[in-house]
Amino acid sequence: MKTADSPINAHSPFYDLAVEGVRGLRPYEPGKPVEELEREYGVSNIIKLASNENPLGPTPLLFDEIRREAEGIGRYPDDSGYQLKNMLAKKHNVNANQITLGNGSCNVLELIIRAFVAPQQEVVFSQYAFAMYFILSQAAGAKLNIVPAKSWGHDLDAMLSRVNDKTKLVFIANPNNPTGSWLTDNELEEFVKAVPANVLVIIDEAYFEYARYAKMGAEGYPDTVPWIAKYPNIIVTRTFSKAYGLAGLRIGYGIAHPDITDLMNRVRQPFNVNNIASLAARLALQDEAHLKKGLELNVNGLQQLGDGLSELGFDVIPSVGNFVCVDIKQDAKSVNEYLLHNGIIIRLVDGYGLPNHLRISVGLPEENQRLLETLGRM
Ligand SMILES: *Cc1c(COP(=O)(O)O)cnc(C)c1O
Repeated sequence: MKTADSPINAHSPFYDLAVEGVRGLRPYEPGKPVEELEREYGVSNIIKLASNENPLGPTPLLFDEIRREAEGIGRYPDDSGYQLKNMLAKKHNVNANQITLGNGSCNVLELIIRAFVAPQQEVVFSQYAFAMYFILSQAAGAKLNIVPAKSWGHDLDAMLSRVNDKTKLVFIANPNNPTGSWLTDNELEEFVKAVPANVLVIIDEAYFEYARYAKMGAEGYPDTVPWIAKYPNIIVTRTFSKAYGLAGLRIGYGIAHPDITDLMNRVRQPFNVNNIASLAARLALQDEAHLKKGLELNVNGLQQLGDGLSELGFDVIPSVGNFVCVDIKQDAKSVNEYLLHNGIIIRLVDGYGLPNHLRISVGLPEENQRLLETLGRM
């Protein structure tokens, strides 16, 4: 059964029960889990380059402490997130009352929508932007202003022209997933400056650490947290799922003006972040050497994949994330089947309107190599 493909069953007696926005939705399609591929294709020695996870995983220093923390799971977690919020506040030079913790940063995005967007109000985001913007806004009954992309990335001028008096918020992914494209500090600040103060600008920086490292010394990829003091209508989101290697624990955060944070907190489910995730995040923040090792591995991997895919004749969109989006100039579904039979999981992006592209996460050097060799033998 392929739920995602079945046009949401309009014949079901329950279809009309759903709220209007939900009727027009399809579920988010995650990358195929390794176990599922093993089961369905009978292949082994599988590599997964599909979900932009850190191939090194988290700092190995956290496992013993997690085991100890696990003894407390009979009790509810600390709902205030006191320790982690204070640590993040210090790191970002903001107050703890500006931080919202989430069950992944997608949970933070959800809180923003729930707190600020009513049916028929408008949201603006780019074509090819991260799928959750569509899903969350559509489910809320918002009117979506999806702005055509420019060179695969955000066309900020066009996005600005779509902001009107019904607009509640604008989503910016910097860098964007699935394309990897990014905005520089100048262009993004010009945009933020021009957006009216009563329109929220969500700046999703899920790949911040990777982008910052990849652009080190080059033209500015911005850290927008300090901008909050100047432009209090922005909300910055970050995650521990990517560079910190904690995707499986689900933890991310938002940073915003204290009043915005207060409003988001009103719709937050209590105990949305568990103590194990919270402890792991604190330990991950402390192991800078491990973080750096992953960032270094990633810049090298971006180079390796970029060069290798270009040599095979494919067009790679420049990326500062931990993934590349590549035009393989043929139907990506059949290439995907071929890769799956060879034990390699990548991500189709046809749902984004990119039927000839693949999104490939940067893996370990030998995993990248195996992907390139397998594509070369196609
Ligand atoms: C991965 C990702 C996120 C966050 O994922 P969480 O695991 O929920 O923190 C947010 N935005 C973008 C663009 C992403 O790619």
